Amino acid sequence: MFFNAPDNKKKETILPFFLPYAGCKQRCIFCAQEKQTGIKTLKPFNLKDETQRLDIFLSAYQKKTQTLKNKNVELAFYGGTFTALPNEAQLALLKTTQKYHNNVENGFLSNIRCSTRPDSIEKDWLITLKSFGLSMIELGIQSFSDEVLNAVRRGYSAKQAISACEIVKNSGLNLGIQLLPNLPRQTPTMFLNDLDWVKRLKPKSLRLYPCQVIKGAELETVWQKKEFKIWNLPLITILFSQAQLMAWENKITIIRMGLSPEPELEKATIAGLNHPALGQIIRSQALLAFISQKIIYYKALHKSKINKIFIPKRYQGELFGHANKLEAIYQTLGITRCKIKFWQNNFFMLN
Ligand code: SF4
Repeated sequence: MFFNAPDNKKKETILPFFLPYAGCKQRCIFCAQEKQTGIKTLKPFNLKDETQRLDIFLSAYQKKTQTLKNKNVELAFYGGTFTALPNEAQLALLKTTQKYHNNVENGFLSNIRCSTRPDSIEKDWLITLKSFGLSMIELGIQSFSDEVLNAVRRGYSAKQAISACEIVKNSGLNLGIQLLPNLPRQTPTMFLNDLDWVKRLKPKSLRLYPCQVIKGAELETVWQKKEFKIWNLPLITILFSQAQLMAWENKITIIRMGLSPEPELEKATIAGLNHPALGQIIRSQALLAFISQKIIYYKALHKSKINKIFIPKRYQGELFGHANKLEAIYQTLGITRCKIKFWQNNFFMLN
């Protein structure tokens, strides 16, 4: 029996350019950009400085790509509310990227994306941004529950969040959704409901940042008052592996699970899951669920045990999970190491 790998082999290379708090009209209670981005001294947004910094940043990367020969790098404006910046600032930043596009000599950028809030989305303006090279918007939705959005004073409703996703798609841009599970008042069931919305809205990509309490963010006070509890690794593993399975089934790429590992962030995290191998743990767990379904089906169909399983080589490092913790479960399914063969094909085979 053959079956396809659950995900696509090709991964984008995302080059983040952080504009901490640029365009933000408020400080969200969980946000601490100075720790998340590693940029220690935050200055108010200054267009001239930022376009210069962007040019230097891209030029330095261009020199590096001459040896790497990677012409499919996607630039991402992260860390702020890009579409709430003054219009001329948005266009100036996009124009600065133009000489680095891969349609010009020595260019290396294939796409440009930005992150923003759902209440800073306007269809006609998105069409203008698209004509200046923007190809994707990642919306920091955080949750589709009004109760959670109100608890963290996010300033928009679930209905607005859903509508913003639709506007992005209708303007011809790719949509990315960012969720922040485990915010105050959020239950695991609410998170599963959020995943249901993701499934319905079908974004191109999904980012999951499990809530972290960062020193200096307002959330620290909420957490100290014991108004919410941080979910533990086993619970996050169950919930996020559901997210991974849903994403595979719906061809949604999960770009990241957890925040980027910045040394400053690690020092400043006072509560919350900041496991360096979180992505691997979740993917392995989801892969186990995916393969188990096929094995159960195979056994029911053929009324026989598995003699051999052929697995795409790229799963070799994650099949048995972090510290081989899933090996015993595979054994209960009749899959021992000697029955596994990793191969170069991008599909599985059971016999
Ligand atoms: S979460 Fe987003 S909108 Fe809120 S302060 Fe941080 S960057 Fe700005």
